[in-house]
Amino acid sequence: MSGDEANPFESLQEQIDDAAAYLDVGDDVIDRLKNPERVLELNLSVDMDDGSIERFRAFRSQFNGDRGPYKGGIRYHPGVTRDEVKALSGWMVYKCATVDIPYGGGKGGIVIDPSDHSASELERVTRSFAEELRPLIGEDRDIPAPDVNTGQREMNWIKDTYETLEGTTEPGVVTGKSLEAGGSEGRVEATGRSVMLTAREAFDYLGTDMEGASVAVQGYGNAGHIAAYLIEDLGADIVAVSDSSGAVYAEDGLDARDVKAHKNETGSVSGYPDADEEFSNEDLLTLDVDLLVPAALENAIDADLARDVEADVIVEAANGPLTPDADDVLTESDVHVFPDILANAGGVTVSYFEWVQNRQRFYWSEEKVNEELERHIVSAFDDLTECYEALDVPNFRTAAYVVAIQRVVDAFMDNGNWP
Ligand code: NAD
Repeated sequence: MSGDEANPFESLQEQIDDAAAYLDVGDDVIDRLKNPERVLELNLSVDMDDGSIERFRAFRSQFNGDRGPYKGGIRYHPGVTRDEVKALSGWMVYKCATVDIPYGGGKGGIVIDPSDHSASELERVTRSFAEELRPLIGEDRDIPAPDVNTGQREMNWIKDTYETLEGTTEPGVVTGKSLEAGGSEGRVEATGRSVMLTAREAFDYLGTDMEGASVAVQGYGNAGHIAAYLIEDLGADIVAVSDSSGAVYAEDGLDARDVKAHKNETGSVSGYPDADEEFSNEDLLTLDVDLLVPAALENAIDADLARDVEADVIVEAANGPLTPDADDVLTESDVHVFPDILANAGGVTVSYFEWVQNRQRFYWSEEKVNEELERHIVSAFDDLTECYEALDVPNFRTAAYVVAIQRVVDAFMDNGNWP
């Protein structure tokens, strides 16, 4: 990440203010949409393998439930903060509204470095968190999902803890589960797939050819590597990818799947034998490419770095990878940024499909999942560009927020305020 210390919660509030200027909605209603409804803060006490007890700070933020149950991932990272979780929960509200799925937004996090812990310690930490969350979650209340450093394993543990304590079966209490535990086909690829679909639609909208386009991807985890190989499948050249170890580059394009195989084998993209050269992560972000996909963490690009960005188009796979100041710089220099709340919404959209399947106990084929995902993302893209043109907003992010906030406001107005 950059040295910019932008507070993600303040970034979220700024993004809402930017969009509110284009909406005919009172300040009192907008103010409601800038703060979470409820934040739970916990100190979990968990037995370690050596017999000691360790304490972990944990959070769950339920930001807004006007359009449906709270929905959002759980992150395990040493850098998790209360404000980060609040921001991520707010972005979930507007993400779900952007792609028009019937959810509000929530998010959770535990301040933990999972690489310091055994699987059994992580299981106890997760089950302890799930026990504390139990009164607040449920398929009609709040539905957790994976985020950074959590996956199917953690979701299966949360589901099992919840179902055991409740004495029921309720697979829709979490999404992102393994297939055997009630997960959906297509969920693992979903976020990378919506990044690819957004990039495809963006290039089409801007009249640029995807065939032979040069692409750089920062962050080669779940979202980044899948986006890379699906974009490669469209005929683009993935010229550079990076992870926390640094970046690898090949002028004629890397083999995205092969780089991942190398990362699986060695733990990082560095040392990939078919690369022309290796350089720093910052160098990757300032490469002269047709498309840049930030897919690591928040605040990867601050205003200083943004001045050196040479990409024509940015599609955000990560949540909040640009600081608001960076956004302003890029808008001024005509770099087209397609925002996270559309581009990475594939994860939550297929989570929604998983939840629908869980509730119906009727499961879809991967083809049907991918087809429905494409329908949602393309339709959301069209709504966004329509708003961009109709209101003459400065960038696509503001357009997405205008569309999303209006949907949340409409639901709030129709529901009425209580009491
Ligand atoms: P992940 O842990 O699988 O991957 C993160 C990758 O980023 C890793 O390869 C890591 O090495 C790399 N990284 C970390 N710091 C870096 C740095 N400074 N420079 C370059 N690379 C760096 O996580 P993920 O699930 O792929 O999530 C990545 C982002 O996408 C997050 O912002 C997350 O919130 C967002 N996202 C993920 C999903 C999903 O379904 N996985 C859905 C929506 C949004």
